[in-house]
Amino acid sequence: MDLGIAEKVALVTASSKGLGRASAEALAAEGARVVICARTEETLRQTESAIAAAGGDVHAVVADITDPGAPARMVRETVERFGTIDILVPNAGGPPAGGAFDITDEQIAAAVNANATTSIRLVREAAPLMQASGWGRICCITSWSIKQPMRNLALSNLARTGLWAWVKTAAPELFPSGITLNVVCPGGHATDRMIQLGRGDAQAAEGLGDPGDFGRIVAFLCSQAAGYLSGTAVMVDGAASVGLL
Ligand code: NAP
Repeated sequence: MDLGIAEKVALVTASSKGLGRASAEALAAEGARVVICARTEETLRQTESAIAAAGGDVHAVVADITDPGAPARMVRETVERFGTIDILVPNAGGPPAGGAFDITDEQIAAAVNANATTSIRLVREAAPLMQASGWGRICCITSWSIKQPMRNLALSNLARTGLWAWVKTAAPELFPSGITLNVVCPGGHATDRMIQLGRGDAQAAEGLGDPGDFGRIVAFLCSQAAGYLSGTAVMVDGAASVGLL
């Protein structure tokens, strides 16, 4: 299936590893020109080289995307390098684990900044350019915890449900301009994040999702064919969640 996004310009943040990287790779494999970022230059350059070696047109920028000025800078860098922005995949690292009463005000503020406000800033910066061109695809990486809050991940649960509520508000405002806005919700995927949370060892890895498959779902959500799919939370969790909503 031709996703119809060859030559489109995509910004995928927090993308030197894991699900962000897999999303950037899948978009590049479809012929999109891709901008990636991360804090650690060495891994970022390795990922940039790997995408380029696979035939991708890629530009890497070292950035901490949770810095309040970084979303505007990344969108600016994207436009300077490739002339526009058509596709946006907001992503950032996940917050530390902890129960509902283990978390401090500072940790709550940091989690909301990283896993809600950063994505909102990115959308706010990119949307006017997409509105001007009459076409855009935005797919925020969140977590299956927006549908089924996870024990001992209070920070993730509270920040990501806030983003989901904002997306539901923003999606109908953007749709008339040809822009779709969705969230994509990973369950357990075999990435460094899972190892950090103690779920990535060889035994636990059985039953985890393949980040490459996750990336291809993101690419589909950013495709021409997905033009009527907006305001939706797409669960990619191997049937792990049990709710009906
Ligand atoms: P990962 O394997 O740890 O990769 C995170 C990537 O983001 C790395 O490239 C990292 O590079 C970059 N990054 C982290 N913080 C950043 C920042 N402040 N600015 C710029 N880049 C940053 O994580 P992942 O598993 O792909 O997870 C991605 C997101 O999905 C996270 O929010 C995670 O909580 C969520 N999630 C993942 C799963 C899963 O199964 N893997 C499930 C539910 C939710 P640097 O460290 O060099 O910056």
